[in-house]
Amino acid sequence: MQLSSLLQKFNEPETLKMAKLGRALRAEGIDITDLSLGEPDFDTPTHIKDAAKKAIDDNFSHYTPVAGYLDVRQAICTKLQRDNNLIYTPEQIILSTGAKQSIANAVLAIVDQGDEVIIPTPYWVTYSEIVRLAGGTVHFVNTTIENGYKITPAELEVAINEKTKLFMFSSPCNPTGAVYTKDELTALAAVFAKHPQIFILSDEIYEYINYNNAHESIAQFDFLKERVIVINGLSKGYAMTGWRLGYLAASADIVRACDKLQGQFTSATCSITQRAAIAALTGDFTPTQQMVAKFKERRDKVMRLLKDIPGLVYNEPPGAFYVFPDVSYYFGKKTPTGDTIENADDLSMYFLNTAHVSVVTGKAFGQPKCIRMSFATNTETIEKGFAKIKQALSALQ
Ligand code: PMP
Repeated sequence: MQLSSLLQKFNEPETLKMAKLGRALRAEGIDITDLSLGEPDFDTPTHIKDAAKKAIDDNFSHYTPVAGYLDVRQAICTKLQRDNNLIYTPEQIILSTGAKQSIANAVLAIVDQGDEVIIPTPYWVTYSEIVRLAGGTVHFVNTTIENGYKITPAELEVAINEKTKLFMFSSPCNPTGAVYTKDELTALAAVFAKHPQIFILSDEIYEYINYNNAHESIAQFDFLKERVIVINGLSKGYAMTGWRLGYLAASADIVRACDKLQGQFTSATCSITQRAAIAALTGDFTPTQQMVAKFKERRDKVMRLLKDIPGLVYNEPPGAFYVFPDVSYYFGKKTPTGDTIENADDLSMYFLNTAHVSVVTGKAFGQPKCIRMSFATNTETIEKGFAKIKQALSALQ
């Protein structure tokens, strides 16, 4: 069968691959402890579900404008002003079927064949693959644990050349949980000020999962705002991963370009989800605060559990719901069956097949010395998973 050459240009997400392998083992009756998930384990808050039920009864069953209903886009503008002190108009907002599609739209709208895109590592798996799909070239900049896995202005400056078209990052970051402070963004913005051809994609999907309550957006700098694409959505902050609603705030030109692309791919996201989004964006924020408080408790528990495992190097994540320890201490050691653990891929597969815990290899995020463990799951699962991992590591020689 002759399929398109486009398929050779990018990889399947490692996160989804791990979920698939875990499901296959579970189907064989094996008890898999899942620390690989990238989604809240909570249910969607009741007032949001009620709004969706009402939307069904009120017959919101037709196609909506590609960019989304005007009142949802207005609610997003209100949210951006309320939470981020950012002024946008509805023409500068476009909804999609998830932050993932918003990112794809933005990259396809901006990146041409041969353009370079700077991505600090570790980064979310999809960034590099979307750039490759668009025909762009990825320029990775490796950040260090000493700098909290954040790119410095000097590192950014060195990476920029005449081909650089876009810079992509997330804060809070998946997989490291790193959160950029206002001072750090100010310093990066000063570098971008010298390079007016570069767009900045700021993925803020974990905005609310922030344990220091200090979310800052790089769109706050007026001299940069025209070139910033803010990505956000409902998946993480409102436990709505399956509902599929992401959005993008940017200049009206970029939004029009995304509208054109999306008009051919998916049209708008689901009408019912859009009605529910108004309840999420304007309604009671207490359920989100309660979820974040739970994530923080779990983060603190994970920090205590990590202390008990020798050889891991990590920092405390100030945001998101992952820990990303450096596990290279174990590279070169042998499993009880005589296999050598060469890298984080081998270690993840050893955990899955022997200890029956699923985690994600750091290679997927551009840092092959690390593994990503999610704490978006209940305390019992976290304790069980960490106990299995500790045991499996102690069996290596
Ligand atoms: N950006 C980051 C950093 C993410 O971790 C995720 C989800 N794992 C997304 C975007 C996509 O979210 P959505 O469900 O809205 O497509």
